Amino acid sequence: MAYSFVGGQKLRKNRSMLPWSKKHAKFIKFEKISPPSHVTISMEQHWREICSPTVKVGDTVSVGQVIGRATDTIISPVHSSVSGKVTEITQMQGLSGKQVEHIIIQNNRKHTTFNGLTPHTSSITNTTADEIVAILRRNAVTDFWPSPQSLANKIETAIGNVDRLVVKLFDSDSNTAVNYRLALENPQAVIGGIKLLLKALSLRRAIIVTEIKSRTLLRSLSTIEYPKEMLFFIEIKPKYPHYDNRVLISALTKKENVTIGSMFSKSIVIDAQTAVAVYQAFSIGMPHVERFITVSGDACSMPKNLSLPIGTSTKHVLSYCSYNNSTSTLFTSNRINGRPITENTIIDSSINSILIQKEHIASNFVASCTNCAHCVTNCPARISPKAVARHVKSDKILRARKAGLDSCVTCGLCSKVCPSGLPLFSNIIQAKQAMAKTPKDIDDASDKN
Ligand code: SF4
Ligand code: SF4
Repeated sequence: MAYSFVGGQKLRKNRSMLPWSKKHAKFIKFEKISPPSHVTISMEQHWREICSPTVKVGDTVSVGQVIGRATDTIISPVHSSVSGKVTEITQMQGLSGKQVEHIIIQNNRKHTTFNGLTPHTSSITNTTADEIVAILRRNAVTDFWPSPQSLANKIETAIGNVDRLVVKLFDSDSNTAVNYRLALENPQAVIGGIKLLLKALSLRRAIIVTEIKSRTLLRSLSTIEYPKEMLFFIEIKPKYPHYDNRVLISALTKKENVTIGSMFSKSIVIDAQTAVAVYQAFSIGMPHVERFITVSGDACSMPKNLSLPIGTSTKHVLSYCSYNNSTSTLFTSNRINGRPITENTIIDSSINSILIQKEHIASNFVASCTNCAHCVTNCPARISPKAVARHVKSDKILRARKAGLDSCVTCGLCSKVCPSGLPLFSNIIQAKQAMAKTPKDIDDASDKN
């Protein structure tokens, strides 16, 4: 039986909604991008964890070398993803929106590896949880959901508190195939990473989630030796937004509601990209300096799955993909809730896909709510988006929260399905952004409503 959740949109029946079918990228092998002329590396690789440069303009660096550190030892260092010369240190917008220092490194294209990298020499069985956390921290292994964060901190908090490790071997939407391809092409690293995390968390078994009919992937995993009781396979229906960890856990357990706070009490969820990074940090001592992405979309003549150094520019990726059509729109993730990007966007840990879409003329059509309830039946959070959006529009944030604002997983489906063209999603996002900035003020103000 394939698992799923109530609400959402089936991907296969809605290819027009998510225009580039995964069927394309799914069948394309990863390739290494041509070396970029330079990379731009942010001192904020993990959300709100900001380092200071430890190198200066003119220094020569190599792949995996530390180029930034924080005084707080629980913050992972920042590493160089290429070998070459530091040409500039400049202020740019970081992950969390603040201005942070970025180091620009001119790539000498020699890919010289830093000679201070330290692979772990004991076997996984003889490695302690503390040692695994230290390896993850030293090598800045990143967990990507909901925003790039330190996996070491996540695992340290989870030790003794979670009873399931869930590993996603599927992708966020129909245009990305990173996790599927990584598990297919590199099963050894994926299973090695899972073993390490099970050891750190003192768990005996991981739940491996694939989409239905992923037989080729399962065959690839079966070529690796591991205790059979270590992995428990579950299939899910290809549905949007299964990529969201809260929705996924809700689908797997059929118990927990999609509400902030309750979701992660017993579960830790990672994807194949994180599992590979864990294994590389352990086995070769390589920090997390490589990113895997899918480039696809209805204006992309040939989709690609690419591995590239963190800090590569989107412009270089597009030029490598022979893309030169300026009438398209670029997104990361998908067209429903994906973030628009430009050629100047730097590929950091928050990006796992570039979607090149034909320019669509935005419709200005907005009519009154007809109470059709499409937004309600599609909402995976089982709330009434129209009620939440109505309260938000009248600045009644406390009422919006009572109506389920906090449970919204920001999938964007409500706006997508609304036949009246109501901007439900943008209303909700505005309220969430305001709450993230000044949560107390919002609560205080709303009490007066
Ligand atoms: S964006 Fe939020 S309110 Fe809208 S459908 Fe998704 S979860 Fe529901
Ligand atoms: S989908 Fe749009 S028109 Fe239908 S109930 Fe929701 S807000 Fe109203």
